[in-house]
Amino acid sequence: MGQGRTAPPMRLLPLFLTLIALGCSHAASPAPTSSQRGAEELRALLAELIAVDTSNPPGNETAAAQVAARWLREAGIEAEIIEPAPGRGNLLARLKGSGKERPLLVLAHLDTVPVKREEWATDPWQLTERAGFLYGRGVQDNKGMAAASVLALRRLGREGVKLSRDIILYLGADEEVGAGHGLEWMLANRPALREAELALNEGGLTELDADRRRVRFVALQAAERVSRNVVLKATGPGGHSSAPPAAPNPLVRVSAAVARIGALTFPARLTPAARLHLQGRAPLTPGELGEALRRIAASPDAPPQDAVDTVARLDPALAAVMRSTCVPTVFQAGTRPNVIPATAEATINCRLLPDEDAKALHARLVAAVADPSIQVEMNTSPPDSPMSPVGDNAMFRAARAAAARVWPGVPVIPRQSTGTTESSLLRRAGIHAYGIDLFALTPEDARTAHAPNERIPVTSLQPGAEFVYLLLRELAR
Ligand SMILES: [Zn+2]
Repeated sequence: MGQGRTAPPMRLLPLFLTLIALGCSHAASPAPTSSQRGAEELRALLAELIAVDTSNPPGNETAAAQVAARWLREAGIEAEIIEPAPGRGNLLARLKGSGKERPLLVLAHLDTVPVKREEWATDPWQLTERAGFLYGRGVQDNKGMAAASVLALRRLGREGVKLSRDIILYLGADEEVGAGHGLEWMLANRPALREAELALNEGGLTELDADRRRVRFVALQAAERVSRNVVLKATGPGGHSSAPPAAPNPLVRVSAAVARIGALTFPARLTPAARLHLQGRAPLTPGELGEALRRIAASPDAPPQDAVDTVARLDPALAAVMRSTCVPTVFQAGTRPNVIPATAEATINCRLLPDEDAKALHARLVAAVADPSIQVEMNTSPPDSPMSPVGDNAMFRAARAAAARVWPGVPVIPRQSTGTTESSLLRRAGIHAYGIDLFALTPEDARTAHAPNERIPVTSLQPGAEFVYLLLRELAR
């Protein structure tokens, strides 16, 4: 396959057919509208970014940053590439405003997770159109946003829009691994980044109905849960399996503890972002799930347990927004079939609500383990994940204004993500960060991020570019 440009874009097809019908083989082609040009440019830049393999490790982001820098410089926008380590390029560019307000920081990351080539139906490093989708590693996560942000800056610059604040574009390295070559390094070494008041990052959710007819909601990530690993450790004398000692061996003890922790659930509780999210989702959700969401969102205190159980059964990801979770993920014990292990260790990955009491959660785990011979190791310092303000503020007003133009009538609501993003670093630096998802995706599309055959619907491309442009323009009015 070529670059996904084998057929004229759907939008241009009626015009194309009309010209053929009129026999206008010499008709002058009409000037493209700016949104048509935007969609073509987005596809071209996205194809160039995807063609650079930035699988992390090793990353090799500089080559992709150079592509973005060229597109910016062509439009007269200075771009600097900073390498904390060879090949690990981070791009910074700035569109100047009047300075009336503190800057807006727009972020996207250029590295991707690696691929297993044999699991892909297309070349992961060639943007490919097939049956209404664009495929390529990073098309969602996160080169689509990188490309749309570059083009939004170019368009704002070209149109000479007067800005009340600087817009700083940061295209980062090393988001997927976090080995110190990306945002954390840049925040420490480029203090100008910390001057930003607001930031736009990945992590939102713009959900397309399963039948792909309409966008259900636009959710801006304003808070996220915190990942903490808990390690259970037991030791014993070991020995030959043919003559077991009286005391149960470490493997048996840790296994029993893992089973008890696996059966634990933590109480449901709504942070402000989670409450507004469920309130927004309830009227859009039919049936039993919608009814459960309505009851949870309406309860001022602890949500009704039967409603929480219903959500956990019908939409586990939504249930995880309402409480901390602890999931056993790794077990290590034993070397040979006939040797009783002297040590056994299990790792439990906990995801804490952003305002969770980590000490209390640890105490709950210790009580569940109910075996003083097992160590339960965990970092019990308070979660360092501030939440960005939600409600009627500049970010939500701007997002509502932009969404009203692109997806008329679609609600804009906050979201607390179950996973983590680099926005926690920004929030710790005092910047109000929000996650967007510029491309409308069905849950099935969204699951292809980090998976084989990563894709976006072709029809989501142009509205996504328009949304980013309008949102930046609104925020810097
Ligand atoms: Zn990712």
